[in-house]
Amino acid sequence: MKAIRIERHGGPEVLGVRELPGREAGPGEVRLAVTHVGLNHLDVWVRRGVPGHDFHLPRVPGSDVAGIVDGRPVVLHPSWGCGQCTACLRGHQNHCRDFKIRGESADGGCATELVVPSWMCLPVPDGLDLPGAASLPLALLTAWHMLHARARIVSGERVLVQAGASGVGVMAIQVARAHGCEVHATASNEAKRAAIAAIGATPWPYDKVGVREVDVVVETVGTPTWAASMKALRWGGRLVCCGATGGHEVPLNLRALFFKQVDVLGSTMGTSGDMLAAWAAVTRGQVRPLVHAVRPMSRLGDAHAMLERREVIGKVVVEQDLDG
Ligand SMILES: [Zn+2]
Repeated sequence: MKAIRIERHGGPEVLGVRELPGREAGPGEVRLAVTHVGLNHLDVWVRRGVPGHDFHLPRVPGSDVAGIVDGRPVVLHPSWGCGQCTACLRGHQNHCRDFKIRGESADGGCATELVVPSWMCLPVPDGLDLPGAASLPLALLTAWHMLHARARIVSGERVLVQAGASGVGVMAIQVARAHGCEVHATASNEAKRAAIAAIGATPWPYDKVGVREVDVVVETVGTPTWAASMKALRWGGRLVCCGATGGHEVPLNLRALFFKQVDVLGSTMGTSGDMLAAWAAVTRGQVRPLVHAVRPMSRLGDAHAMLERREVIGKVVVEQDLDG
């Protein structure tokens, strides 16, 4: 089979196409013919490397994988636990010390085929195309776990999503709307604000955050937005953070923390149960993909460059052409 494999960290040039040995599906496994892979910022971190973190190269990238199994369109769960530790047995797979994210701590989908346990396949509902399906799982799971499991949003609450046009932002807006929340979101330009408005959020420029107090803030940016996010919270509000694309060191005013009685919550990926619940929202039509562009998989570096230039609204997807 053909696959893109990162053998050393670096620029887009390290995303080389290689011939790798395939394998037969064993008991309880299926072989997926990969058609599309959705990209996340995680793909850029895996390619570039992160100081102090070992990605155990070589690694086939690609967390969000769609394709065909026995003639049926499916997407794959993007993460899983060991299945045997206390955290996994309690259903908290994302607390497992052997937690795997496809394309990060296990080989991913930028390949012609993938053999996976059959339980990892989620059926693609009618009316959802494969590029759209491939754009969903990781960001959707992240947003669902943040808002449903961590911040525990309820109908009628007001939610602010920072960087609302990002992959996670677009999902967070729709997940909050599906829970009956009033959603506000920030974005840096008019095109992004129009996209946010089209999926049901009130768009704001970054310098207008705090005009209205909110119950919950979704943080993915970090250093540049943190102070405004904390200030925007009402007394007793919750801030939930799953990323730091703009920097990970922030000031924390403890007097504001205890006096306003706010919760600061960390979140990474989600549980297998979260993925099933979130996918049911897709099947009900409450969450839809927002695909900015589809590029050939063999030109994966071009797709990375689009992410790095922060010009993407929603998601970039790459399409299978490694055999061509
Ligand atoms: Zn485990």
